[in-house]
Amino acid sequence: MAETVASSRLHKLEQLRAAYRSELAQRLEAMETCWLDVRGGHDAAARVEELQRLAHSLAGSAGTFGMAALGQAARVLELAISGLGGVATARDAQQRASIDADIAALRGHARQEPTAPAAAASPAARGGTAGEAENRLLFVIEDDAALAKAIATQLGAFGWNVQRLANATAAREALQGTRPAALIVDMTLPEGLHAGPELISGIQRSTDSQLPHVIVSSHWDWNSRLAAARSGAEAYFVKPVDFAALTDRLDTLTRRSPPQPYRVLIVEDTTVLAEHYAQVLADAGMEARVVVDATRLLEVLADFSPELVLMDLYMPACTGIEAARVVRQDPKFTGLPIVFLSTESGGAQQLAAMQTGADDFLEKPISDADLVAAVSVRAVRFRALAALIRQNSLTGLLNHITFKLQLEGEVSRVQRSGAMLTLAMLDIDLFKHVNDNHGHPVGDRVIHGLAQLLRKRLRRCDVIGRCGGEEFGVLMPDTPLAVAVRVMDAVREQFGHVHFASAKHGPFRCTFSAGLAAFSDGVDEGSLLRTADEAPYVAKRSGRNRVCAAAGPQ
Ligand code: GH3
Ligand code: MG
Ligand code: MG
Ligand code: MG
Repeated sequence: MAETVASSRLHKLEQLRAAYRSELAQRLEAMETCWLDVRGGHDAAARVEELQRLAHSLAGSAGTFGMAALGQAARVLELAISGLGGVATARDAQQRASIDADIAALRGHARQEPTAPAAAASPAARGGTAGEAENRLLFVIEDDAALAKAIATQLGAFGWNVQRLANATAAREALQGTRPAALIVDMTLPEGLHAGPELISGIQRSTDSQLPHVIVSSHWDWNSRLAAARSGAEAYFVKPVDFAALTDRLDTLTRRSPPQPYRVLIVEDTTVLAEHYAQVLADAGMEARVVVDATRLLEVLADFSPELVLMDLYMPACTGIEAARVVRQDPKFTGLPIVFLSTESGGAQQLAAMQTGADDFLEKPISDADLVAAVSVRAVRFRALAALIRQNSLTGLLNHITFKLQLEGEVSRVQRSGAMLTLAMLDIDLFKHVNDNHGHPVGDRVIHGLAQLLRKRLRRCDVIGRCGGEEFGVLMPDTPLAVAVRVMDAVREQFGHVHFASAKHGPFRCTFSAGLAAFSDGVDEGSLLRTADEAPYVAKRSGRNRVCAAAGPQ
């Protein structure tokens, strides 16, 4: 399988190489014609500029397709042409002869066989793909049957498949055949006071592998905690277990919800070069889209919403710097990272590009491995930063403003496409009591718990925001009202079963009320939001802990 993927990748790159080679003759011819015109004095200024552009483009692309010597020769020609200065005619016979020779040299290099495409990009550079099947199996090594059952029920609500093992011997046996995503291990088992961590330490030593695990314990003492730390436990929970915190920790531990591939937009006028970059980035697990014609840039930005733009500095219709300025006119794109690709190492162009908020420069020709490394390193950092800015720190959900922006975007999308869209607003019931009875930090955990449940239970394409203290908004694209009501009601049911730990009064449960409204023709985002905003109060008035559909926005 891996071999097939690798060979089809090589095949694609070879095809691009062949396409580039077959275009070469035409490119060289265009350069020669240009040069003849310059020599003949026909429209010389424009032809010099065109020739320089062609040489520049060749210098930046040939290396990528295994023709480094051709690229260098093109660079020499480019410099020679810029040496013509503003005069734009080559009156000097020596200069003419030298450029004649440079152009002839290109022909010679173009006839040489290119070097073979490089081996596949390192998988370590992957931006993260939603590939592998998720392991949802959890082992709970716990002798207390009631607690094990409670853990299974609670974590089951968050999508885990929980298997209980009552003692160390049973656990050791089970672990021989199966590899769970993580383990929840009781400190004290029938085998001894610290039998849980000792079991894990023993297995890890003998198999030389790591078992991701957390310890649950009724002991606060240092020695118990030390035993847990020595087994490499990621967390230590004192009973009664706070289930929301436990799920949270397990999620981080097992890195569920694999990240979406990074979206990279390539703006490059040389189609075959743009496609080569796109293929290389796609092979590294990113999603790449190409814009050859800069006039289509805004449209593609809106549609693809890239996390990084790779922008060619030289294009015929406008320069990359000008294109970047157009992009930056829209405040939505102020933070969008733009990385320029150029053959220019000179400072003046870079300075101008910096003023448009360039995030970096990569020099052409760039090797496939360097391209992947440069883009993925930046994409990782920018995505983390963007998430920090966008998301609510307690819940990891979108904040109110970003949620409204998304709502706006979705509404205009369905206005164009006629697709369906349902909005749900949730409000936790009697939340003031939670704070009053159990304290604010416990209230925070409830908010966090609901946020997690929503993330877990809803689809990837659903947009979830924290719109107020204990209020959440959910946008469900392509979902009819009746279906959305069913989904929200299932979430409500599950939430009602989650136990939250409280030191003061023991475990307790919470509920929420939700109102839903569907988008229909002629509705703007404001009235959709108002209708959905009012709907939870209908649910509250009819007794709370329920999901109500609004009559439909006017
Ligand atoms: P209802 O069922 O009618 O919604 O009752 P309620 O008690 O939830 O009423 P209301 O919506 O008026 O109260 C919300 C409370 O949520 C008030 C506020 O102190 C609390 N709250 C808001 N943000 C936070 C937060 O971030 N953390 C915690 N712990 N409490 C918060
Ligand atoms: Mg170009
Ligand atoms: Mg409220
Ligand atoms: Mg409330």
